[in-house]
Amino acid sequence: MSVVRKACVIGAGFGGLALAIRLQSAGIETTLVEARDKPGGRAYVWQRDGFTFDAGPTVITDPGCLAELWSLSGQHLTGDVDLIPVDPFYRLSWPDGTSFDYGNDEDKLRREIERVAPGDYPGYRDFLAYSAGVYRDGYLKLGATPFLDFASMVRAAPALLRHQAWRSVYSVVSGFVESERLRQALSFHTLLVGGNPMTASAIYALIHKLERDGGVWWARGGTNRLVAGMVALFERLGGTLRLGDPVDRIITEGRRVMGVATRSGWRRGFDAVASNADLVHSYRDLLGRTERGRRQARSLAKKRWSPSLFVVHFGIKGAWPGIPHHSILFGPRYKGLLDDIYDKGILPQDFSIYLHHPSVTDPSVAPPGHSTFYALIPVAHLGKLPVDWSVVGPELEKRVLDEVGRRLIPDIHARIVTKFHYAPDDFASDLGAHLGSAFSLEPVLTQSAYFRAHNRDDVLRNLYFVGAGTHPGAGIPGVVASAKATAGLMLEDLAK
Ligand SMILES: Cc1cc2nc3c(=O)[nH]c(=O)nc-3n(C[C@H](O)[C@H](O)[C@H](O)COP(=O)(O)OP(=O)(O)OC[C@H]3O[C@@H](n4cnc5c(N)ncnc54)[C@H](O)[C@@H]3O)c2cc1C
Repeated sequence: MSVVRKACVIGAGFGGLALAIRLQSAGIETTLVEARDKPGGRAYVWQRDGFTFDAGPTVITDPGCLAELWSLSGQHLTGDVDLIPVDPFYRLSWPDGTSFDYGNDEDKLRREIERVAPGDYPGYRDFLAYSAGVYRDGYLKLGATPFLDFASMVRAAPALLRHQAWRSVYSVVSGFVESERLRQALSFHTLLVGGNPMTASAIYALIHKLERDGGVWWARGGTNRLVAGMVALFERLGGTLRLGDPVDRIITEGRRVMGVATRSGWRRGFDAVASNADLVHSYRDLLGRTERGRRQARSLAKKRWSPSLFVVHFGIKGAWPGIPHHSILFGPRYKGLLDDIYDKGILPQDFSIYLHHPSVTDPSVAPPGHSTFYALIPVAHLGKLPVDWSVVGPELEKRVLDEVGRRLIPDIHARIVTKFHYAPDDFASDLGAHLGSAFSLEPVLTQSAYFRAHNRDDVLRNLYFVGAGTHPGAGIPGVVASAKATAGLMLEDLAK
């Protein structure tokens, strides 16, 4: 009779949940231990005054990578989650009132490009072909590959060279189109995974094709319903979710991990442990008694970390059918603003805002006659911008709301029913995020693939990692792909 193997996944973010589902689907007895009172990680949720406020991801792309988690056990995502297509994908607008709707209807898109960037449509088509090539090689072929040794990087080198991975997304886009506005429209996506369009590897231009092919979706009821669907699937498969009990320590013996101990005193032995928690937190705090833990934490802390975010959540009176689900309100500067956030650590006077308006697609997230929004701006992480957020936060919240008021909702302050903000120090305290980074390690070529955290630790042979700090990186499709890579390794090792 074969022995049932036991695994622990620390952290119920999208990566942790996807990994736990894969392990449990393969017959590994899996326990998912989450520090907070609710699963989801960056995709946490608050209910306030009848409004549903999703904390993080709102743009659901590549639904196929999610559906695959259900199909592993012959089930269907549609049984647990209702995904609704969002069109346009985004409305991009600039301070002079110009706007550009972007989606995957080719005729509409051509008309929009010809209006905003006359003469650039052929260049756009060439960019789309480039993006398709990177998507095929970088995402479909290598997205779920564990880069454990340098040889794996060498094998990927021809593809990286072919797609000029050493260049930035903005530089590659600029080679295809002339209009500065279209350059911004085709390069801003790296910000959604923590990357500066001016320095993130051109490989991330694949996001454009990913969206064009797979569409942009919304989970009815909010991203929290997708998280709930994943939890329901995991529990139906027989997995155990332990909430509200942070892991304090990963127990080791020599080069092996033996189990975990939590803050409440709970302690269990496991054949394998995977961490979905922040990388520095995992090595420095959970493995702080080991030489390996201390050394890795020091080395990781020296790397480039993605910026943080400042998010203002607000529920207001009235319906706003004219404001689409996803808008980007570009400010007067693009590169200068990115320099302030990524390099100088300055809190800028001007912003580019991502405005989320889910109630326009899904009225269930607001009381009747009301609307739910969040306004998000990237800000430098706590290492570059060590301000007192309890002082800066309320002032910045007002400035962000003023800007949304100026651009879209003139009497915004009078309409507000409820509001609150989420700042870099909240990412640090709630999620254990190093420097309050919203997306873990910055996605630059020198921190990608083999140069990112490995899915299996190099020394502790049954310790694994999953999530934004591992290859291919942040974003739901990224962390779900990392779960596939990590599960592959774990299942192979556990079968030995
Ligand atoms: C505001 C915002 C908007 C975003 N928008 C999008 C978007 O529109 N589309 C998109 O695809 N991506 C988006 N992203 C990125 C995406 O949300 C993240 O990259 C992804 O969700 C990270 O998943 P993860 O698996 O790395 O885990 P995380 O979400 O980081 O979860 C890690 C989990 O580990 C837990 N944990 C930490 N320490 C311990 C411990 N000691 N014991 C137990 N548990 C522990 C944490 O509580 C947390 O639940 C956004 C991110 C943010 C912050």
